[in-house]
Amino acid sequence: MRKLYQLLTETYNRIEPHHNTWLLWLKKKSKEEVFEVAIGTILVQNTNWNNVDLAISNLFRNNLKSFKQLIAMETEQLEDLIRPAGFYKQKAKSLLSLAQLFTEIPSQGSFIPTRGELLQIKGVGKETADSILVYCFYEPIPIVGTYTRRFFARIYSEIGYLKKRYESIQETILNSLPSDYYTLGKFHALIVSHSQQVCNKTNPLCEKCILKSICSYGNSHELDTELMGIQEAIINPRSRKKK
Ligand code: SF4
Repeated sequence: MRKLYQLLTETYNRIEPHHNTWLLWLKKKSKEEVFEVAIGTILVQNTNWNNVDLAISNLFRNNLKSFKQLIAMETEQLEDLIRPAGFYKQKAKSLLSLAQLFTEIPSQGSFIPTRGELLQIKGVGKETADSILVYCFYEPIPIVGTYTRRFFARIYSEIGYLKKRYESIQETILNSLPSDYYTLGKFHALIVSHSQQVCNKTNPLCEKCILKSICSYGNSHELDTELMGIQEAIINPRSRKKK
């Protein structure tokens, strides 16, 4: 996995696309930037970054730059402003619950919400909770998303990654990479970028991929029925359940 991290880092020095977004997410942040990243983890669910940018621009244009301000506004107005990100009713509820958690914090001392507290918010799953902990509170936690599962299943030729316990994949990552927030946050960013640009869901561009030489799928998927089965399960998850 270190080799993967190294190769991806060399290729995506600028972690394109969304270079500026990832730079913001990986650096130490001001309070206002923490607000932007935290709401971004919720707004980005089931949509793309362009839509998230539109929603965040709407909030900022209306001078909404903190959880205190967010909690003080009318729900309908919030829904309206974040509408470009889709699922705006559910996302508004999640943002308000998140704001509640962030504004209830003690004023002194450093506050870090627990994973359990974050998971109690409707609309916040493990990936979102861990993203908040890594990118807002610099906790050394591996983040596992759909991209991670798909990527590992292909690289290691192991269909189990598509359904493996979230925590077990986290353990695998922790056993292989340095456990600091920057490395783990960057590894997630690299996997997302690589998956969006090259290792996409339906038609991975293996011939152009810098990982081809160390990737099981890239090397021999046309000849290997197991690897073809992985691709079938990625495209159509139900096909695996039927077997
Ligand atoms: S070689 Fe193909 S399957 Fe492997 S990481 Fe690259 S694009 Fe994905």
